[in-house]
Amino acid sequence: MTSRKYAAPANGHFPRKRFGQNFLVDAAVCHAIVDAIAPGTGDTLVEIGPGLGALTDLLLQRLDHLHAVEIDRDLIARLKARHGPERLTIHAGDALVFDFGQLAARGPFRVAGNLPYNISTPLLFHLARFADAIADMHFMLQKEVVERMTAEPECAAYGRLSVMLQYRFHIEKLFGVPPECFDPPPRVDSAVARLIPRPAAELAAANPDDLARVVAAAFGQRRKMLRNTLKPLIAESELERLGIAPTRRAEALSVHDFVRLANNLSRRSGQCVP
Ligand code: SAM
Repeated sequence: MTSRKYAAPANGHFPRKRFGQNFLVDAAVCHAIVDAIAPGTGDTLVEIGPGLGALTDLLLQRLDHLHAVEIDRDLIARLKARHGPERLTIHAGDALVFDFGQLAARGPFRVAGNLPYNISTPLLFHLARFADAIADMHFMLQKEVVERMTAEPECAAYGRLSVMLQYRFHIEKLFGVPPECFDPPPRVDSAVARLIPRPAAELAAANPDDLARVVAAAFGQRRKMLRNTLKPLIAESELERLGIAPTRRAEALSVHDFVRLANNLSRRSGQCVP
């Protein structure tokens, strides 16, 4: 995310563009996000990018304990000065490589945050790997990313992100947030989304890597017909046998269609498909 101004210090902290630091300064929006999360006292919840603590402080009013993953050492020092380790465990480092699985010891955990927009897509893909252990996720994201996440087939916003996330999660846009609610204000509109993992049986790809391959190939050249984009993976005759017209384009297929194509690929390479 690019920003209009990065010179003005917020609370004495100079926002770092490389860490996507656009801090929430609108109290009503912070409360609305925490109300949407509705933390329960004993929940295991991890906040990604607590920053100056706009959400952290409100979350800690409702939780016994909170986990946070933060990359900026200056912000970590500030957070530690405000909350002791008995209330806030800070995992210092990069959320893109953080092993969220370690939070699952006491059952499904919850995830929330006003995400750094510059890494939001890879972060969502990283989190999807832990979907089986996650109860739900609430994120502030660039509005355009939320539109892609929730897009239906035949929409311009429907693409790889829509299919790969909708395969693992039910996704709902909750509300929009304008740039003036942040300091510094981002150049883009934002929105808060809720993601709830689908039960494993709902849409089952025998091999999620095959699903990723089919989806990447189909959307790699989204204006081309499936018989061309999928040629290296699935023959035209196989598409016809599955009832998928080879002249269609990726944007016409549902998530379920992509799962059927992936399972066809898995079956042909000798993998066990239920
Ligand atoms: N939660 C705060 C708020 O709402 O005001 C800050 C949100 S700011 C958009 C993003 C936060 O994520 C910053 O605190 C930033 O330092 C942190 N961050 C950026 N990249 C990160 C990464 N790779 N891993 C963990 N935290 C990161």
